[in-house]
Amino acid sequence: MTRHAFVALVALAGTATGVRVEGQSPRTTLIRRAQMIDGTGAPSRRDDVRIAGDRIVAVGQLTPTEGERVVDANGLTLAPGFIDTHSHHDRGLDTGRDALPMVSQGVTTIVVGQDGGGSNLAALFAKLESQPVSVNVASYAGHGSIRGRVMGDDFKRHATADEIARMKPLLQAEMDAGALGLSTGLEYDPGIYSAPEEVLALAKIAGDAGGRYISHMRSEDRWFWEALDELIAIGRTNRMPVQVSHMKLGMHDLWGQAEKLMGVLDRARADGVQLTADIYPYTYWQSNLGVLYPKRNFSDEKETEFVLAHVSLAGDIIFNSFRAHPEYVGKTLAEVAKMNGTPPVKMLMALLAESGGSGAGIVAKGMADADVERLLQWPFANVCSDGTSTGLHPRGYGSFSKVLGPYVRDKKLFSLEEAVRKMSSLAAANVGIANRGRIAPGYFADLVLFDPAVVADRADFGKAQALAVGVKTVWVNGQMVFQDGKPTAVYSGRPLRRPPSR
Ligand SMILES: [Zn+2]
Repeated sequence: MTRHAFVALVALAGTATGVRVEGQSPRTTLIRRAQMIDGTGAPSRRDDVRIAGDRIVAVGQLTPTEGERVVDANGLTLAPGFIDTHSHHDRGLDTGRDALPMVSQGVTTIVVGQDGGGSNLAALFAKLESQPVSVNVASYAGHGSIRGRVMGDDFKRHATADEIARMKPLLQAEMDAGALGLSTGLEYDPGIYSAPEEVLALAKIAGDAGGRYISHMRSEDRWFWEALDELIAIGRTNRMPVQVSHMKLGMHDLWGQAEKLMGVLDRARADGVQLTADIYPYTYWQSNLGVLYPKRNFSDEKETEFVLAHVSLAGDIIFNSFRAHPEYVGKTLAEVAKMNGTPPVKMLMALLAESGGSGAGIVAKGMADADVERLLQWPFANVCSDGTSTGLHPRGYGSFSKVLGPYVRDKKLFSLEEAVRKMSSLAAANVGIANRGRIAPGYFADLVLFDPAVVADRADFGKAQALAVGVKTVWVNGQMVFQDGKPTAVYSGRPLRRPPSR
């Protein structure tokens, strides 16, 4: 075919109606004049990006072809879509298929099944195929779920060898369904009652299947260092990648020890342990009252005094949910104690007697700003949200934008390129997601176009569901799911199953 004839043919295919003609290749999209950050940490550069179908097919100085859809980026920053490696947003996708809290921040993939909770991934993935949403969803298999299926209500003890043997095929089935690996929630029931040997043996099943281990560790406060040792030992013994979930120094006594922590992490890596972490940019965590008591000794007054002096202060514990007392929601423990004319220690014990620990959801300050900022800089720490679509904690609507705006643009914690790397290629590597997290030919076209001068979180305590600003356009698998502050009602997200390793 002569060049002239070819151009004519392309022109015919790309008529203004945009209707695809059978047998001809799909129309392409060219994003022009973008300040492109490719996700690897390399300096940004002015480049164009071409999308065909669900993939990036070209990057460089590109000329529009006839009939091609052209998006003028107008100098805004184009980055790989962000990957949230620790998310609880799956709970909100049933009613919010447009994934607005996520895509409004540029998040295009969420990783769920966290803290030991993931189960029945075959059904989850099948549902995401029959009723797709606007983000990609990957998942871990949850240790707590598997333990619960084997041990039922009789979980407040170590598992027997026979019980562990029965957990293994349940985990193997989840790995076969496409789990990224095993997640644990060792501060929670029922995981907290497991012996390290049980967790090690199950993690090995995930590792042998080509998967990894991710953990809300056994302690984020009193026995933090021992808990970290347990996670590192799993990586070392099983020779598998291990990730600390929502890394934090979660107790006043630990504040100021970020350098020591990074030293421990770096030494393990130098020793050959494939150790990484994720972290969200807040000093408040969200959980339930029970986690304040690792021994679940709720009626122990000495323990309660210790909790309120060392783990979180009465004025820093905010009730997020309380079935028996909806009027406490939004109030601090100090305020509730004052309302009742009771000292905070007595009040907390009374509330625990009523709620049983897991019956009261709380948001509590456990970290220091300086530690969060320092740990965010660890080169192997990627950004996550740990967020949900509801509740009092702003992290579900603001984590990524808070890093890009206040932390990077305003405080200059690290470069914009490094921030994008921590949200894209590093995040993908830390959880084992292939072919996403970079702008390069062959990669899936998950992309975010944003204004680095404007991008910021708007969610805060008291307005936790305020949408972030500064993101202009988001593509998921080559299709626009968010444009100018609004979802497009395009549900191009996919379930991401771990590819077979061999
Ligand atoms: Zn957690």
